[in-house]
Amino acid sequence: MRSLRALTASVLLAAPAFAHEPSETTRKLSFPRLGDGRYVMAVDLHTHSVFSDGMVWPTIRVQEAQKDGLGALAVTEHLEYQPKKADIPHPDRNRSYELALAEARPRPLRERDPEKDLLVIPGAEVTRGMPPGHVNAVFIKDANKLIKTDARAAFEEANAQGAFVFWNHPYWTAQTPDGVARMTDMHRDLIRAGLLHGVEVANGQDLSPEALDIAFEYNLTVLGTSDVHGLVDWDYDIANGGHRTATLVLTRDLTPEGFKAALKAGDTVAIFKGSLVGRPQHVEAVVKGNLSLNVGVPPAGVKMTPVTFRNTAPIDFILELQGPESFYDAGRLITVPAHGEFTAQVRNTPNPSAVGLTFVVMNTQVGRDTALTVRYGAAPAGAGR
Ligand SMILES: [Zn+2]
Ligand SMILES: [Zn+2]
Repeated sequence: MRSLRALTASVLLAAPAFAHEPSETTRKLSFPRLGDGRYVMAVDLHTHSVFSDGMVWPTIRVQEAQKDGLGALAVTEHLEYQPKKADIPHPDRNRSYELALAEARPRPLRERDPEKDLLVIPGAEVTRGMPPGHVNAVFIKDANKLIKTDARAAFEEANAQGAFVFWNHPYWTAQTPDGVARMTDMHRDLIRAGLLHGVEVANGQDLSPEALDIAFEYNLTVLGTSDVHGLVDWDYDIANGGHRTATLVLTRDLTPEGFKAALKAGDTVAIFKGSLVGRPQHVEAVVKGNLSLNVGVPPAGVKMTPVTFRNTAPIDFILELQGPESFYDAGRLITVPAHGEFTAQVRNTPNPSAVGLTFVVMNTQVGRDTALTVRYGAAPAGAGR
């Protein structure tokens, strides 16, 4: 039986600092470094402010990103859509970047800490009919120069500036009424010419399995972005444990050049409504880097093995047990909570002192209809060494 003292302590530990305000740990999209030394850097490369059709000043975008523990943010205003121009005239299209950059400067003034401080990346949204639809260019040098009559010329200019360029919401119903992302000849040409490097598989509240297929088939980087126009806290119900849609960049180097190289290499996972979406090797790296299994010793006289999962990620992992084993005190579907643990007893295992378990991680997507399968503990019987 649980003592009252232990119960009180655990209630105190679980209580947030303020009612209805998620704690720092649960809000932040912070992940520990992977075993191979890479950082898991959460970035949002698609947001808006009042300098296009967003509802907030760029400083708010920075403050939200800092609260969310992001490593990098881009405020990407529509170049060709300026509904607030009469109220907020701004002939220099780099203005919202400059304001965000100033806000992100460490205070008190000190050297930037790459592991803690937010990077603000210059970017813009090239806003066209389909094709090419909407496209973000980030790591640009001058947004003004991307305003072109010819859409392809905007891609060429962005690339001349060294940009990373990705296709936004390719399934957006305003441009694709059935909500299904499809390639066009123009997109094929742009990819062939090396002018288009990534595609959003998740944008705001939407996810596109077809965009994931396109990313795999055309070797494009997988991205998730918020495309937030209002407030992150309201759009994503942060108070109740929600998080913005974002991209996890697996990178050895947290500098702008370093994480741009990881983006270009396609080393990313989209994070969307508590799920990880991307190439199997990248999703597995994040799962294995955050979810560990400790196999205990069967108690005397009992042929069952205690196992404890520990999760260091800010999202839950929902696991479905595969194979002949079963849990004595849980069903086949278990949840290892964010920053938490799950303990159970394993039975029906061929060797109780060398337990190996296979799971499907239900809240992952590594193909249009596939979730990631992972193995923990001893290799299955008959597997090669
Ligand atoms: Zn757009
Ligand atoms: Zn947008």
